[in-house]
Amino acid sequence: TATKEHLSFQTEVKQLLNLMIHSLYSNKEIFLRELISNASDAADKLRFEGLTDGALYESDSDLKIRVSHDAAARTITIADNGIGMSRQEVIDHIGTIAKSGTREFFSALTGDQAKDAHLIGQFGVGFYSAFIVADKVTLITRRAGLTTEHGVRWESGGEGDYTLETVEKTDRGTEVILHLREGEDDLLSGWRLRAIIRKYSDHITLPIVMKKEEWSQEKNENTITDEDETVNQASALWARAKSEITPEQYEEFYKHVAHDFEPPLAYLHARVEGKQEYTQLLYIPSRAPFDLFDREPRHGIKLYVRRVFIMDDAKQLLPNYLRFVRGVIDSNDLPLNVSREILQESKDIEAIRAGAVKKVLGLLDDLAQSEQEDEKAKFKTFWKEFGQVLKEGVAEDYANRERIAKLLRFVSTHVDTDEQAVSFSDYVGRMKEGQEKIYYVTADSLKAARTSPHLEVFRKKGIEVLLLAERVDEWLVANLTEFEGKPLQSVAKGSLDLGKLEDEAEKKEQEKEADDYKELTEKIKSTLGEQVKDVRVTLRLTESPACLVADSHDMSGNLERLLKSAGQ
Ligand code: ADP
Ligand code: MG
Repeated sequence: TATKEHLSFQTEVKQLLNLMIHSLYSNKEIFLRELISNASDAADKLRFEGLTDGALYESDSDLKIRVSHDAAARTITIADNGIGMSRQEVIDHIGTIAKSGTREFFSALTGDQAKDAHLIGQFGVGFYSAFIVADKVTLITRRAGLTTEHGVRWESGGEGDYTLETVEKTDRGTEVILHLREGEDDLLSGWRLRAIIRKYSDHITLPIVMKKEEWSQEKNENTITDEDETVNQASALWARAKSEITPEQYEEFYKHVAHDFEPPLAYLHARVEGKQEYTQLLYIPSRAPFDLFDREPRHGIKLYVRRVFIMDDAKQLLPNYLRFVRGVIDSNDLPLNVSREILQESKDIEAIRAGAVKKVLGLLDDLAQSEQEDEKAKFKTFWKEFGQVLKEGVAEDYANRERIAKLLRFVSTHVDTDEQAVSFSDYVGRMKEGQEKIYYVTADSLKAARTSPHLEVFRKKGIEVLLLAERVDEWLVANLTEFEGKPLQSVAKGSLDLGKLEDEAEKKEQEKEADDYKELTEKIKSTLGEQVKDVRVTLRLTESPACLVADSHDMSGNLERLLKSAGQ
């Protein structure tokens, strides 16, 4: 069936293409980085599938990426012998954006080019970046394991539709041919392409090969020879000595592993020796991905064993609350044929994971404690983007609870801003003489927290109260009962016990008033009947006539509301 089929892009793809071509043009060289990054991913996928099905290699296990150009035809070609794609995979991956967060992304677009370029960067454009420099892209691919007549030829002008044909393809893998736009001829140079590859793709572990060029006296120009040469270092970046890696190389490597367009916020690179030997190169992104709160967030840590890629998104390597971390862990001890099932039970993995968690928390703590303004600013950014996720760690990671607690930041009555900037240590440092507890209030909004009648007596006495208004906060305080020996206490729970902060005169007064108003409180209690447990006279309030208080062992009013709204 040699018939050519015409298909339409998903509406979002059309919109994205348009936006991208305009907003990323100033950085057009990145198309090569993106296509090489995909070729490298395709090789990784082949290696992973090849672990269980060696036949997929079709007697060609020398994985590489080839970049070539043809000045006469005005094309640049990026070819790989990776996993390739079936016809359906081409439709699903190239004609559609299957990413989670797509809807959020499109609803966040503003129409302002600079702002949208940022968003696009975050969302990641990958393959489509080819259209920045090409007005026609041809992709020819065959999936490993399918026979040669199952090749697929995809072609598009990047406008709104594409064509699809079944073709014969002898070599496994994918070839992407860019037909350059008018005015892009400067890219048709071996020298230029090499420079771009070295700048953005040096860290790629596979060899990126090009045909060697030679000066021809006769023609008075460079001519392309038949000899291959590897353009990149083609060695695992993380296995090189730190002193031999430039900040730019760290950054480009991040963009590849994280599928991110923006530089990372911070990273750590460490080799661990001893009982367990492994290397970790881990990054904190500068921005939360769109799928951070999805059930199945994508792209985490890549696992390698002695430089050989094993798998993507190895969830066992870091706990869920650190799911935003990206990077590579390379173990010297695991067997090469390790599977996801083995990972789940491996003691080696447990040790690696514990070590990685410590390192990441240590990195965050260094940023938080730093005297340097730019490092401190990084921590603020981190907290803004990922603070909510880190809070989950208090419940998830019992062993590191105290280290996590030190990193937490809150809004409090001590400051007027809504920025979460107060740490438990800040709070403890400001505790009043005689104050034994860390007071907090939970509510469904900051405004509600701030105006809570429960705060009245605390204001009067000048005692700071933490204002917790995120959903995860109820979860947090249910799992964290103290910080450095100071108990956490909800201001809206139990009988208000201010301990030594309460003076004798006040206590006497409260007792007296309880007596004086006994008749009234009993009357109110009998009127409200089942709806309340008790009605008491209180010193909690200075302005409001009454407030609701939960018993110390009962759910807080806010949690009750949360559960109700969740239909429980
Ligand atoms: P991402 O790399 O972030 O997934 P891309 O837009 O770069 O996004 O690529 C989209 C998808 O197309 C990839 O996830 C992959 O499934 C497929 N793809 C792209 N290039 C190749 C290739 N060279 N070989 C195999 N599959 C590819
Ligand atoms: Mg990609």
